Parts: sequence; structure tokens; C-alpha cells
Amino acid sequence: MSQEQENYSFFQSVERSFDKAAVFTKWDKGILEQIKACNAVYRIKFPVRVGDTIEVIEAYRVQHSHHKLPCKGGIRFSDEVNQDEVMALASLMTYKCAIVNVPFGGAKGGIKINPRNYTPYQLENITRRYTAELVKKNFIGPGVDVPAPDYGTGEREMSWILDTYMSLRPGEVDGYGCVTGKPVSQGGVRGRTEATGLGVFYGLRELCNIKEDMARVGLEPGIEGKTVIVQGMGNVGYHAAKYFHEAGAKVICLIEWDGAIYNEKGFNPDEVLKFKKETGSIVNFPGAQNLKKNTDGLELACDILIPAALESVIHKGNAPNVKAKIIGEAANGPLTPDADEILNKKGVIIVPDMFLNAGGVTVSYFEWLKNLSHVRYGRLGKRFDENMNIHIMSVIEDLTGKKVSEKERKFIAHGADEVDLVYSGLEETMHAALHEVRDVMVASSDVHDMRTAAYVCAINKVGAAYEQLGIFP
Ligand code: GLU
Repeated sequence: MSQEQENYSFFQSVERSFDKAAVFTKWDKGILEQIKACNAVYRIKFPVRVGDTIEVIEAYRVQHSHHKLPCKGGIRFSDEVNQDEVMALASLMTYKCAIVNVPFGGAKGGIKINPRNYTPYQLENITRRYTAELVKKNFIGPGVDVPAPDYGTGEREMSWILDTYMSLRPGEVDGYGCVTGKPVSQGGVRGRTEATGLGVFYGLRELCNIKEDMARVGLEPGIEGKTVIVQGMGNVGYHAAKYFHEAGAKVICLIEWDGAIYNEKGFNPDEVLKFKKETGSIVNFPGAQNLKKNTDGLELACDILIPAALESVIHKGNAPNVKAKIIGEAANGPLTPDADEILNKKGVIIVPDMFLNAGGVTVSYFEWLKNLSHVRYGRLGKRFDENMNIHIMSVIEDLTGKKVSEKERKFIAHGADEVDLVYSGLEETMHAALHEVRDVMVASSDVHDMRTAAYVCAINKVGAAYEQLGIFP
């Protein structure tokens, strides 16, 4: 069953969740309407030579909110792309940035292609032409609108975007900040690749440490021993699965578009990824049971279900069969509003996308700051800190007459590298945001679910920004 059969589009479902939360805020109708609306929608059609033919490619960039600039959000390559979807995803970006206190408005881009049907050379042509179209209309730039990776795109596409932008805007001193998710050699930041998956892990780990919340779903606090199912072995799903596995959780089922595998003892996601790279699929992974239908995996009993693929995968058709106690929305919009309602009624804790997958944009923010400051994180302080730590240790050794072990010495002396700072900034951001969202629920006995609480948080912040802009005299 698709979302259309539930009678509302993806954008309408975002509006529905927004309206449900808006009643718990103080903003008048005008401000709420402004927050909800997409400020600018750019639809492009351009021709690209594919083999012997010319193909007309359909693409979008939607800037949902200009309450803070630049706008920010990924670009996806998928043949499901349409205006409604990009509008919904751009809206979610606004709320996501607000929740994690990243000072951007939301945006999203999409090119309606299945990247598997094109050669790298053709994809490069399409990406460069799309970027040129964005430049033409001033829909990209470090102070205007900053794309990033999303479903079907990654570092490679971001490099093409950067290179095209720089060649059309030569000499722009902050030009590297026109796109994030770049390779480190092209101005990227260490830790961006794994950021969304790691953010998913940090967010859920913090939730799992809250005794009262775990008691509500009959679970013990902590990650160790929890059973986890992940849908999607792309960048987000793979990294989320990996961090759960490393923390002692059992990743018992992995679901991909072409099949799903199950093993009650748990998988090592690195081994599964290696197998997928060798064979082209996770199906037939040694020692695993292949599921008949890939989506059957969503209905297996587990503690934490992490949909990390596309929107609307849990809907009114399969929601009643979902047995997970916690659902962590690593993808954007994986639950339809009907599914959300059904699962909330069942008492499942649903950790919403706009909080849980905000690690990607958080680290994009760090990358953008790095690009504007033209200096790598840690470059100035690392050596100073190391010298200071070594000095403090030798003073302590002199005073106590005892020696610190070599292992401890190495650990304590270490000054923060770029990746250390990125991880700690991400961890702090995810923890703080979780508690901000939770505090809304604690403060109001009428707000029963985390999605509504997250919307309340976001609406309040964006509403305050609009009010301060003074555009509603
Ligand atoms: N596409 C990612 C998201 O949906 C990242 C966006 C960004 O880094 O700007 O959050």
C-alpha cells in the first residue's frame, strides 16, 4: 500500500504533523502559515545526451524557509523524485535544523533519475548541468543555499557540484562552502560520511539510557544485548548498524531493496557490506536466512527498528504487524501518518526523523564553518593541548612519585584532531536536542509523542526567528 492510497501526499503528511503540534504553540495563524509554506520552488527540465539519444531530465530545488540563511539540504537521485516529495523533504530540513540548533533554513533538491541506469560519465554530465542551472538562478552559494548528499548521492557528486560552481564563480573566496559532504581533499570535514548513522546511534543510545522511557516499553536501560533491525545498507543504515554492533547490540536482520537476511545471533555489518560489495547483494549471506519478502523484516520482533531507506515504508497496511518497541527514523518520513497513529496507540516509542537523522546536517554545518574559516579543526590547539597535558602529567608524577602507564600516557596526552572535535560536537548536539524534545513532553501532559514534541520545539524556534525579523508588523 502506498502513501497515495492513504489519501494524502508526503507534503500533506508533514503539514498534518505540523498542525497537530501547532496547537501546543502560541503563534498566530499567519506565522504558522508562513512557517509551513515553501518559500521558493524551482523546477528545471534540461537535456542531456545519453548514448545516442537526448534525454530530458526533470529536477528540483525547493527552499522551504528563508528565516535563516543559507538554506541547507541534500540532493537526491531517485526515479521517485517529484515536487511534492522535495517540498516535504525541504520542510523537514527546516525543522531538523531548528531542533539541533543549526542556523540554516531548510531546502532539498532532487533529480528524477535512477542512478543505476547511467554511467559515471553520464551522471557527471547531469550533475554539472543541474549545478549550472542552480547557479543561473542564484539557487546555490555559501550564503544562499548549500546542497549536500542524500539518497543516491555522495562525495563524488558533491565534488562535481563544487567544481562546477567554482568554475562559474571564479575567485569567490568562500566558494568551498557552496556544498557540503565533499571529500576531505576537496574541503570536506573528517567524520561527515558516518555523521548521520553516528547521530542515529548517539540519539538512540541517549534515549536507551533513560530508565523511565525504557520501563515504558519493558526494556532495561543501555544498548548492550538489544536486538536491532536495520532497513537500508546505504551510508546511513550501514553506519547505524555498525555502531550498534560495536556497542554490543545484536543486529539480527538487515533489509535491502532486493532482499533481507536474518540471523538471531546477529550480524557484523562490516562483513555483510564486504559480501554485498563482492556479490552485489546482501542476499545469501553465509549463515543467514533469506526472508521471502524483504519487507517481512520490518515485521519481525525486535527492540529497535531502524528504517534507514526511503519514506512511507511503514504504512497502514503493515503498521499493525510491526513488533518493534522503539522505532528510530533514520530515513526521512519512513512512517505515514496512519502508521504513526497506529504505532503510537500500541505504545511504541517513535524517535522522529527530524531529530534522529539530524547528525548529517549538523556535521555539514561544521564543514561549512571549516570552509568559511579556511582552517582545519584542531590545527591551532592540538599541539598546545598535547604539550600542556604532558606537562601536567609530569608534574603529577613528580608530586606523587608514581608513573603513568604508557597506554594512559598516550590517551591523556592526545590533543583533539578534527575527527575528535566533530564527533564530540555531534554527540553533544544529539544529546542536547533529545533532551530539548523530551522536555516538551515533560512540560505538557497533552504532548504524548516525540514527533509532536519535536515539531513544537521546531515551530517555536522558527516562529521566534520570524517574529524577530519583524515581518509581521
Ligand atoms: N541529506 C541529509 C538530510 O536529509 C543531509 C543534509 C545536509 O547535510 O545538508 O539531512
